[in-house]
Amino acid sequence: MARAFVMGNLSHLNVNLAAAQPSATYRMIDRVAERRAAGHTVISLSAGEPDFDTPPHVRHAAIEAIHAGHTRYTQVAGLRALREAVANKFKRENGLDVSWRDTIVCSGGKQVIFNALAATLNAGDEVIIPAPYWVSYPEIVQLCGATSVAVPCTENTGFKLTAEALVSAITPRTRWLILNSPSNPTGAVYSHEELRSLAAALVAHPDILILSDDIYEHLIFDCATFYTIAQVEPRLAERTLTMNGVSKAYAMTGWRIGFGTGPAWLLDAMEKLQGQQTSGACSISQHAALAALNGPQQFVGETCAVFERRRNMVVNSVNDILGLHCTMPGGAFYVFASCRDWIGRTTSSGTKLNTDEDVALALLDEANVAVVHGSAFGLGPYIRIAYANRDEALRAACSAIRNFRTKLHD
Ligand code: GLU
Repeated sequence: MARAFVMGNLSHLNVNLAAAQPSATYRMIDRVAERRAAGHTVISLSAGEPDFDTPPHVRHAAIEAIHAGHTRYTQVAGLRALREAVANKFKRENGLDVSWRDTIVCSGGKQVIFNALAATLNAGDEVIIPAPYWVSYPEIVQLCGATSVAVPCTENTGFKLTAEALVSAITPRTRWLILNSPSNPTGAVYSHEELRSLAAALVAHPDILILSDDIYEHLIFDCATFYTIAQVEPRLAERTLTMNGVSKAYAMTGWRIGFGTGPAWLLDAMEKLQGQQTSGACSISQHAALAALNGPQQFVGETCAVFERRRNMVVNSVNDILGLHCTMPGGAFYVFASCRDWIGRTTSSGTKLNTDEDVALALLDEANVAVVHGSAFGLGPYIRIAYANRDEALRAACSAIRNFRTKLHD
């Protein structure tokens, strides 16, 4: 009833919300749930979340926290002990000179980003977002009433932003640049040299803030080293929000704990916003995150090795399917595959594939495999395959996609 009321009264909506799109990843997650409820067996390669259980010592810490009565409000910016652990993480792993006061804990990485953008953006402000991008960046910018400026980054540059492309996108209204390495949806990883070149361009534009979304930091392959821009160019630290969280590294997506470090004025503004919104992250989840950051770290390396093996398997299988093509991603758990050759073809049930969204929907309906269409990430015609799933499921999905292709006709 409530939903019908809202839908029937669109004029009541905030104009920025009315113009925003729902999350494309969650739309596919919902479609999978509907199809499963209708009795179909669907292999989901749509949600970007590790398929592993949260490590036992982290789960135990949460249970202990409940028994110890840590079930009340915490400080808005997070428990001091957790903020100290976050500061240590930034020092230990990223070489950033951070005290606990320079940190904030939020309800997931998404809220760190939302807080930062909502705290700073006004109508007319521009945010540069290299495309392909995570679906939520432009929508959060839209919700804040500002304008996103997508900069196309194709396979020719490894789906990465170059300094030249960055500089040509900068205008007097540019307020933020969003960087994400390893990238969702391409898995592209920026090298030290590539970040240095972007940093050199940014040093010449002192009014631009930088948001570095490092949530996939620990999922990095081929013995590569992870770098974040504030570490590569310390002069940018005073205007960079370095954001991370426990979701991907410790298989803790549902616990909703993200964190960040940045300039004091920005963290203060984010805390003020959070204090009027969620009052802070869940106390039990904060104790779990503390155990994740301060406890044994083997889980991180072990799961990364599993993802690397799966990546190799999925990339080989995808490139073996007629008309699909993908490059080798350096990190995260996504393969971004071009489906250009499938566009214009018709499926066995008579559906014409005019767009990559048609491809994703037909794969769900006719092959029972869920992926997300590339256009939702700002570059089509592609599909994003999240290989955070068991080996057997990945093999079955690739064979269902191959079978789907054999039935396409001109
Ligand atoms: N970040 C993940 C994804 O891209 C989780 C869903 C979301 O928040 O978009 O699938």
